[in-house]
Amino acid sequence: MNRRNFIKLGVVGAGATLVGIEPSQGEPVASPTSIKSSTVVAMPISVAPLAQQELDPLFDDMRTRAGVNTLFTFIYTHEPHRAGASPAGFHGGNYARPHMQFYRDTPLTLADMTAPEFGEVDVLERVIPVAKKHGIRVFPFILEDNQLPAAVRQNWEKLYEMDHHGRRTTGHPGGPCFNNPGYRNFTLGLVEDYVRSYEIGGIMWGSERQSGLLNTLGLSQSSGIDPGKTTCFCEFCLKKGRDQGIDVERTRQGFGAMEAFVRNNRNGRRPRDGYFTTFWRLLLQYPEVLAWENLWATSRHEFQAAVYRKVKAVNPALPVGWHVWQNVTFSPFQRAEENLADLAGCSDFIRPAVYNNVAGGRFVTFVQDARQSVFGDLPDELTLEVFYRQLNYNEAPFDKLAATGFSAGYVERETRRAVESVAHLPVQIWPGVDIDVPVNAGESHCTPESVGAAVKAAFKGGAQGIILSRNYTEMKPENLSGAGTALRELGVI
Ligand SMILES: [Zn+2]
Repeated sequence: MNRRNFIKLGVVGAGATLVGIEPSQGEPVASPTSIKSSTVVAMPISVAPLAQQELDPLFDDMRTRAGVNTLFTFIYTHEPHRAGASPAGFHGGNYARPHMQFYRDTPLTLADMTAPEFGEVDVLERVIPVAKKHGIRVFPFILEDNQLPAAVRQNWEKLYEMDHHGRRTTGHPGGPCFNNPGYRNFTLGLVEDYVRSYEIGGIMWGSERQSGLLNTLGLSQSSGIDPGKTTCFCEFCLKKGRDQGIDVERTRQGFGAMEAFVRNNRNGRRPRDGYFTTFWRLLLQYPEVLAWENLWATSRHEFQAAVYRKVKAVNPALPVGWHVWQNVTFSPFQRAEENLADLAGCSDFIRPAVYNNVAGGRFVTFVQDARQSVFGDLPDELTLEVFYRQLNYNEAPFDKLAATGFSAGYVERETRRAVESVAHLPVQIWPGVDIDVPVNAGESHCTPESVGAAVKAAFKGGAQGIILSRNYTEMKPENLSGAGTALRELGVI
């Protein structure tokens, strides 16, 4: 991080090394790795090792291998893999202790929010002092669940989106509704709880979802989305839409027509006038669909702005940032909706997920599903080529892509695009680079060399920090060391 940006973040005046990484004078540093600069080198990690393992060796390993100075803890989750726990009978929730004075006007109870998997351990209380000793700052990472939590379904269900048929969603691609006051109050309470109750280094929030039309059309790295599950049509969204002058019934009809279009395509019925023309005609017939699309996307940005304001109201010096779903780097459509410049004024840092190794298989899925709607006129190979041109990528052909993965060039291009999109704004880009993100059988695997190349590409693209991704517990030690070697060669650590 250069000094100019450091000042822009407003943390120099605060003095207290909120983003700067040097340990305070006089504090013991257990790790042999010395951090040469205040550049953020971050590590996400699931809960189990933080709750159960000896922490000194854990942090020593991260520091020694890759100079990690920032920890992103999955800390509130109802997803077993993020907790690092068995799915059988899993409950999940907050792995720090909920302080109930912060949770007002939400249907969630203390029992709903209290994660029982690791007993009475308050993970933040346990981790923060030890991490500090190692010169590591702790950021709670709040990543939305992908599924309605089964163990605490009753109260969570009220917060979830409704599809255009009026059915409550139960998970991805739906999720809790950004316009639901109960969900908003819960999230704002959660961040206030973390900020007031613990000596944290900052907050990162993320949501791996997109708007209704893109889900209906299957323009997603998640395959086989039900086109009938377009969101959101809950009472709060309906009111907000009407207040904006959108004809709600026309919107429903439009999404119904889009759903029929996709179902017909999947059943092998080619539209008489072609796939693209039929898609475009539907937009002409139902422009309300695009208005609804915009309503969803702007509602998420408003939600993020509310999170940012809540944290800053308590501690203006604390960095707040966003995890951005990798799908944004695959979809020219979601790329349009997720313009990082729209987050200006409510972001200190942004983490674009640019997992290049796993991208190969994910992009193959994206192409195949896109061909069931808008791109049905084209074969796989040509659809892939169109996307490469639209996205400015230069990657492997369709038949080799899953076995090859994306190159480090993708990391560089997407990092540069992110950096340029927030140029002249006080926002830093900390890309998430791929270290052993799980792949399907037959797909490419990371090596120390490929990880090192991705790390170097991120900084070549202008990154001001880096997030080694996506979870320490998934990483092969030698591949994490590959990141460390590159960071040393770059002079970052
Ligand atoms: Zn809603």
